[in-house]
Amino acid sequence: MEKKPDISTRPFVFINAAMSADGKIATIKRRQTRISGNLDFDRMDELRATSEAIMVGIGTVLSDNPSLTVKSKERRETRRSMGFEENPTRIVVDSMARTSVDADIMRKGEGKRIIAVCENAPQENVLELSKIAEIICAGERNVNLAKLLIELKNHGIRKLMVEGGATLNWGLISEGLVDEIYTFIGNIILGGRSAPTLVDGEGFVSDFCKLGLISCEILEDGVLIKWKVQQ
Ligand code: NAP
Repeated sequence: MEKKPDISTRPFVFINAAMSADGKIATIKRRQTRISGNLDFDRMDELRATSEAIMVGIGTVLSDNPSLTVKSKERRETRRSMGFEENPTRIVVDSMARTSVDADIMRKGEGKRIIAVCENAPQENVLELSKIAEIICAGERNVNLAKLLIELKNHGIRKLMVEGGATLNWGLISEGLVDEIYTFIGNIILGGRSAPTLVDGEGFVSDFCKLGLISCEILEDGVLIKWKVQQ
């Protein structure tokens, strides 16, 4: 097994997610639904505005078509005044280059886009995407996340916000590539055995991922919990 990159060679990585009281991050139709309120939205917007990049998996792009832009005008202006683009670099982990050039993440808001693909990605898709995004090729059959993070650090990205979904969260956590996890737990139950949870993938059989509690606070009708991943 490849040695995982340590924090000096990759960005600081944190996952931010909203989940239901029963641990689901979307409905059984795999559609995102409103779990948190305005305060949590604002907190998330601040996290976006203060990150150098935001990453999602292709599953999230196909399900939710998010733009991942900074919503507050003031925050966008602050970024500009500091010499940054209005939005952080938006990154899609997309082995086969399935992201549509018309997806909101590609079209909405100024800022750089990176599509992380693997060597087997259809070249016609890669070519099309390369007209509007930077392509990083890492891995043979799917995206090698450790390699990708090292490459992102080489691009000057020191703080990376991960906004899901469940499979990408698993990929990063299972490879020991996550530093902190922030979850807003809302006052709703979504249910459904097939609804995505915070972390899906294959799951650990042993050597579970242990967390240390950073903080826990009541936010509107839910709870915001921050964890540090114990490496
Ligand atoms: P996902 O995690 O967004 O994307 C997973 C995909 O990423 C994989 O299927 C794979 O597709 C690609 N990938 C490439 N290399 C990978 C690697 N090394 N490790 C992991 N993934 C890799 O998709 P998802 O699990 O279906 O989650 C989407 C769901 O999460 C949606 O229902 C969405 O609504 C929900 N969501 C909720 C929140 C929230 O905060 N509540 C936030 C985001 C998403 P390829 O093989 O094609 O590359």
